[in-house]
Amino acid sequence: TPVLSLDAVDKVYKVGTFGSGELRAVRSASLEVHAGEVVSLIGESGSGKSTIGKMVLHLVSTDGGTMRVGGQDVTRLKRGRLRDYYRDVQGVFQDPFSSFNPIYKVDRVFDTVRRSYFPKIRRADWHLKVDDALAAVTLRPEEILGKFPHQLSGGQLQRLLVARALLLDPKLLVADEIISMLDASTRVDVLNLLVELKHKGLGILFVTHDLSLGNYVSDRVVILYRGRIVESGETREVFENP
Ligand code: ADP
Ligand code: ADP
Repeated sequence: TPVLSLDAVDKVYKVGTFGSGELRAVRSASLEVHAGEVVSLIGESGSGKSTIGKMVLHLVSTDGGTMRVGGQDVTRLKRGRLRDYYRDVQGVFQDPFSSFNPIYKVDRVFDTVRRSYFPKIRRADWHLKVDDALAAVTLRPEEILGKFPHQLSGGQLQRLLVARALLLDPKLLVADEIISMLDASTRVDVLNLLVELKHKGLGILFVTHDLSLGNYVSDRVVILYRGRIVESGETREVFENP
């Protein structure tokens, strides 16, 4: 069973005055992400990539089709089930302060990280786990845990979000343009981290507008054009037959 499977999902946004119009942002999109696999979702700006990521994270509704995680139908979830859902599925979006990211301006970094971690675990073990997660994204706990988000650089915030997501040992990570804000050396660190996590069995949906990045990290690519999947397959095949 795939970690994630989308079967003919649709997204329709209400637009215009009083929501009088409709914008079909995603049309009948089907894709799968398996454990230990990076699938890149590639397309120009406005093609519906982020919308797919947001549907998977239940940050927007899915308006048609079926979404499954680990074989279970999760197309519609009651609010009370979301907490459990987020143990399996985590996401990081490009702009650290986007309302789609769980970073809270009023909370110190320590509290942001603590809030996201709910399984029962001894305090000392939890501190070790946080230190490990931060180390994996080359952040030093003593440099950031006591600060407020606005005191960190964009790159630090981006890496913090990745670390926070990984603390839950999710099965699926949605990474939406997460390295665009990073400097070159941090980019390499984060990409290498993704590859390492993949080898440990994490499924990754890697959203990017950058063909060369998709080519570099992914096992398979899915190309979106105006809300439709126009091409998908193994990375090598797709890029060899343009
Ligand atoms: P991408 O991630 O590929 O740039 P998006 O998923 O952000 O594309 O957007 C797909 C389409 O949906 C675009 O036309 C965008 O303007 C529209 N869209 C995105 N979010 C909303 C929203 N909240 N309300 C209305 N339209 C939206
Ligand atoms: P709380 O219930 O602690 O006030 P929220 O309602 O903001 O927190 O979010 C509940 C949980 O949902 C958080 O612990 C967080 O892990 C998860 N969550 C929220 N947004 C996202 C996201 N973009 N990606 C992954 N998990 C998220």
